[in-house]
Amino acid sequence: MDWFAGRLVRWYDKHGRKDLPWQSEPRDPYRIWVSEIMLQQTQVATALPFYLRFVERFPSVSALAAADQDAVLHLWSGLGYYARARNLHASAQALIEQHDGRLPEDIDALQALPGIGRSTAGAILASAFEIRAPILDGNVRRVLARFHCVDGPPGKAATEKALWAHAETHTPKEQAKLRDFTQAIMDLGATVCTRSSPDCDHCPVSKRCAALEADAVDTYPQPRPRKVLPTRDVRMFLIIDPAGRCLLERRPPSGLWGGLWTPPERNADYDPDRLLEELGLDATIVFNTTIRPVFTHTFSHFHLNIEPVQVYLARTPHTVQEEGSRRWYHPLDKDELGLSAAAVKLLDTIR
Ligand code: SF4
Repeated sequence: MDWFAGRLVRWYDKHGRKDLPWQSEPRDPYRIWVSEIMLQQTQVATALPFYLRFVERFPSVSALAAADQDAVLHLWSGLGYYARARNLHASAQALIEQHDGRLPEDIDALQALPGIGRSTAGAILASAFEIRAPILDGNVRRVLARFHCVDGPPGKAATEKALWAHAETHTPKEQAKLRDFTQAIMDLGATVCTRSSPDCDHCPVSKRCAALEADAVDTYPQPRPRKVLPTRDVRMFLIIDPAGRCLLERRPPSGLWGGLWTPPERNADYDPDRLLEELGLDATIVFNTTIRPVFTHTFSHFHLNIEPVQVYLARTPHTVQEEGSRRWYHPLDKDELGLSAAAVKLLDTIR
């Protein structure tokens, strides 16, 4: 083991997180996989309750593969980045079809599954099977960029190459230490070498940290060039019947909020009467239409300005044209629906 790995493993022994639910013995590759997917864009404290609900409802690959996508998205509601849930579901079905319901102990086979990149595959191999494979998630990137003063913004090919090379060099060859090292370097980034306030005084590798030595900790990792996010303006229509139910549409399976249910979304200037006509609803049953203040939901690549339009109906229509997927939903229902973040927010306003 090199100096860096040795220091980290000893530090982990004393200070690392060893009581996370997916770390219980015997290790369950399925649970480790679910945790790794949830932690891709989310911190442990946020992901924990979602993880516990998820594995209680879907305790195995076969249970997840057999689930309805709505039930999977429902348990993911509020965690964001829903492609992760859709990929997890699709991967479970692929595991049943191609790998007898087990996670393969092979990096290429793991990476062939939807939603599993090189770092996630490495984490699964090391944590579940004690197979040597480097990892490079956001926390590890930050630690290595600082420890080695790696120049260049994240995502650039040369930066990635340099970081992967350091990750490869430090990953121990000793099988017995592999799991601890993998968890240790993730924990160091999450708890000590944090983004905004690294605690170098308590860092096990501070003696040889190049950024600390150069008094340049704040300089690494070097930031991505700032880009101004574009905005999009839309209207979302809350069509509410006398029973308090709201009309929802299911979004296309991929893309923004893919597969999730949301109030009908149309262009910013879309007229309520036009929508009612489109839905096969008689405009005379509307007794009140209210336009609410615009709110903004920010995605990684743009801002979505949403203007809610509440349309109260005087009576429940007999039918709604079922073009695509539409349904009535009461905000107090326990129906297992995957709701978009906007739907959750808007339904809260009429709950
Ligand atoms: S010494 Fe500071 S900057 Fe360097 S790895 Fe440790 S916490 Fe990060």
